[in-house]
Amino acid sequence: MRRNTLALLGGRPVRTRPLDIPSWPPVTKTGERALTAAYRSGKWSFGGPVEQALAREFAAYHGAKHGVFMANGTVTLQCALAACGVGRGDEVIVPALTWIATAMAAHYVGARPVFVDVERTTLCIDAGKFEEAITPRTRAVIPVHLYGSMADLDAIRRIAKRHGIAVIEDCAHMQGGKWKGRGVGSWGDVGSFSFQESKTVAAGEGGICITSDDGIASRLYRIKHIGYDMQSARGQAAAGPPPGLVCYNFRGTEFQAAILRDQLRGLPRLIARYNRGADRLRGILRGTPGVRIQARGRRADPQGYYGWTVMFDEGPLSGVPLPGIQEALRAEGVGNFVMTYGPVYRHVLWNLPRGRFRIAAGGGCPVAEGTGTERALMMHHWALGSPAGTLDAIGRALVKVARNATALKLK
Ligand SMILES: *Cc1c(COP(=O)(O)O)cnc(C)c1O
Repeated sequence: MRRNTLALLGGRPVRTRPLDIPSWPPVTKTGERALTAAYRSGKWSFGGPVEQALAREFAAYHGAKHGVFMANGTVTLQCALAACGVGRGDEVIVPALTWIATAMAAHYVGARPVFVDVERTTLCIDAGKFEEAITPRTRAVIPVHLYGSMADLDAIRRIAKRHGIAVIEDCAHMQGGKWKGRGVGSWGDVGSFSFQESKTVAAGEGGICITSDDGIASRLYRIKHIGYDMQSARGQAAAGPPPGLVCYNFRGTEFQAAILRDQLRGLPRLIARYNRGADRLRGILRGTPGVRIQARGRRADPQGYYGWTVMFDEGPLSGVPLPGIQEALRAEGVGNFVMTYGPVYRHVLWNLPRGRFRIAAGGGCPVAEGTGTERALMMHHWALGSPAGTLDAIGRALVKVARNATALKLK
């Protein structure tokens, strides 16, 4: 068996032992203690002390004044839009490549999501295309900091300001990520985060909005807490919500908050580790034709990671169907690459009738539909925390598959 022959074609695999990838979500002794303490505290919800502490700490970490903790990272987007006054008849610009929640949030408040294409390098919303898609009805834009990159916040904020449009950052993939050294989510009018179990800070379910605008914070709190204001104790609201502000029960619990506070303490170390893992992979892949790594956020300092994404849209691998590349990697002992999102409007769960959304520029979103979907594979963030031996195997398997693209094509 020759070392250079693809394992798929009978060669020796890069890795014969299983990859040593940390398990996710994380379980810690300190997390267990915090969870038990919340359980025994007799206070399980309704703006308890753990929730308050988490909201304060999470907002401060990301450079914002207020944090409003909620049930998940979908209702946070919905509340963010509502708190910014977005509603029926309005348009909300979203990237075509994201989880469907980003666009559904616009629909939930009665607005129309408008999809625009993403950049080939970062896979985040293309600022130029965002500007082209603006109409007199546009009230908000939701840039998503996708996988392991960041949307161009400087350009997006400049354009939004010029047109009087609210910016809501979808940071579901970017806990702990900073733009020019200040937390993502603090640059827009609101930053929305998810704590669903696959995210880098995870509690099964949960979400938070951060903002430095007192008025927005107050409305966010009322919307998620059935109308109560931030100061009122249970059943003792001094004043009701403003007329017309539709309020819900989108509360999270003390149990979630307890786990999240524990994880938040470890976040700087986790992010630093992921950045080192990504640097190591970049080093191994340097100069390998046909494997393009998703670009880091332009001003990422540090970069956050939901995943680590590679694209095969140029050079020798561009003609090989994605499942073939995935299979070749799996044969090399590297089976942790998964497919990425496709365009929201092609998702099996996306069922809005055509009149309820719009795809900007008529011709569709070629980058999201092509490179971003059919030519990209991702591994989840926890793999970036693997020991060097595992990272090296992942990197070497990618290099080997790329070098043997012709053999793979002929297979
Ligand atoms: C996870 C996610 C959300 C929100 O998800 P929830 O499961 O509702 O917490 C929103 N946007 C993106 C991009 C996501 O990945």
